[in-house]
Amino acid sequence: MAQHTVTLIPGDGIGTETTEAMKQVLAAAGADIEWEVAEAGAHLMESCGTPLPESTVDAVKRNKVAIKGPITTPVGTGFRSVNVALRKTLDLYVCLRPVFSIPGAGGRYSDVDLVIVRENSEDLYAGVEFEEGSAEAARLIDMCAESGAGAIRPDSGISIKPISVTASQNIVRYAFDYAVKHGRKKVTAVHKANIMKHSDGLFLRVAREVAQEYANTGIEFEDRIVDAFCMNLVIDPSQFDVIVFPNLYGDIASDLCAGLVGGLGIAPGANIGEDYAVFEAVHGSAPDIAGKNLANPTAEILSAAMMLDHLGELECAARVRRAVRTVYSEGAHLTADIRKATGSKLPACSCTEFTEALIEALDA
Ligand code: ATP
Repeated sequence: MAQHTVTLIPGDGIGTETTEAMKQVLAAAGADIEWEVAEAGAHLMESCGTPLPESTVDAVKRNKVAIKGPITTPVGTGFRSVNVALRKTLDLYVCLRPVFSIPGAGGRYSDVDLVIVRENSEDLYAGVEFEEGSAEAARLIDMCAESGAGAIRPDSGISIKPISVTASQNIVRYAFDYAVKHGRKKVTAVHKANIMKHSDGLFLRVAREVAQEYANTGIEFEDRIVDAFCMNLVIDPSQFDVIVFPNLYGDIASDLCAGLVGGLGIAPGANIGEDYAVFEAVHGSAPDIAGKNLANPTAEILSAAMMLDHLGELECAARVRRAVRTVYSEGAHLTADIRKATGSKLPACSCTEFTEALIEALDA
């Protein structure tokens, strides 16, 4: 019997290619994992009537650990994001995204070493929305006018931004606990409290209170307004360490940070709760390159390395990371996104060729 059973959700778009590459690399690295494959995505609508079947959620609950490929969320339709639904159903309240420079990956800096801790359950992602022209939107607009809260144009669609004390405490505590456990020096809370006093203002107040609880750990705390934070991040990422965000700013900053180190092709992540953990790359399903053997599987493979750490397989995780560094520093086998990021004129390799090179680079 394998040492670990992990639920594998291949997803759609480039997910089928990147998860296959990830599986091959982990097998070659000696990870003793049995995969229980479970499906999710729009392609199940016809057969199951839902993009997220109960059996898939049950599979994650049974094994407690899952890794997934990206799942497309069609833009501007009534289709709710499967990624968001999975995070909500399993109460995966933390989105953890380490961002680090890989020599040879084309990042703008060589010394980036940040950790994004993004709140995963509320904010504008809560899914509380009212369609333009609906009776509910009209009632809300009337209520805002009558209470003196403010005038909203009658032809508005409305998305609600709830930020709670509970979720803010949980995420900021996670950021500090992570900093303590991993020997980090500073936690930065990012917000727009000067404008949104009752949502971001609450987040900032709670973050300051939680920072007080950790005063004797020696970990520094600071806060930044999100727009100034973005500018400062681009000027000098080395001034940041662990950064904690409400949901939407964390989403945007994740792509910004990925861009600093070479792009979405190499940015790993994890969604973590009290009981379950689901590992996934930061990138989406990249429909423009899906099915063409062009995807960079590094982000999925580094997400798997995070999963190996979580499973206690630290040696195996370190081996996978070393092999990634070797392939990038040698530079002979790199996918098109990285050739573009580095401005290299050398031919790009396919997802399959990259995976083979990575397997070759695994040390004993
Ligand atoms: P989502 O809304 O799900 O985050 P998105 O459409 O905003 O998805 P992605 O699918 O994450 O964006 O990617 C944007 C573009 O970046 C893709 O269209 C693709 O060109 C490139 N890209 C993303 N991931 C990869 C990858 N693993 N390898 C190569 N290119 C990638």
